[in-house]
Amino acid sequence: MNCQHVRKFLTSQGSPVEPEAAQHLRNCASCRRFAERMDAVRRELRRHQTVVEPDGSFSARVLDRLAAQPSPPATELLGWAALRLLPVTLMLALLLGGWSLISGPNPETLLTSVDQDPLAWVLNEEAGGP
Ligand SMILES: [Zn+2]
Repeated sequence: MNCQHVRKFLTSQGSPVEPEAAQHLRNCASCRRFAERMDAVRRELRRHQTVVEPDGSFSARVLDRLAAQPSPPATELLGWAALRLLPVTLMLALLLGGWSLISGPNPETLLTSVDQDPLAWVLNEEAGGP
């Protein structure tokens, strides 16, 4: 076990350490200091660990407060969203329209070329076009 393995083990498992890791810790002062620091951090975390549980009426109080606050009507929210989305939608429509105009082939030429044997048409397309 190298230093990296031992430290990974120490950060994920803590103590008790595997025999292999313990062997490494006896021989490696650097990892021993690392283990001591990890222990100190764990002790400190446990010391400050407090569990806060809300009393039984907590959710009722939250719901009461939510009900007391005026919320904007749904139509107002929809109008806000439409105002924000309209420019984006118009821009996308213009971009797509422009792109479909400059990129070929147009639907009409596609339809006339499919009037030929469809298999030959597909094979021709795959081969790189006429
Ligand atoms: Zn080490």
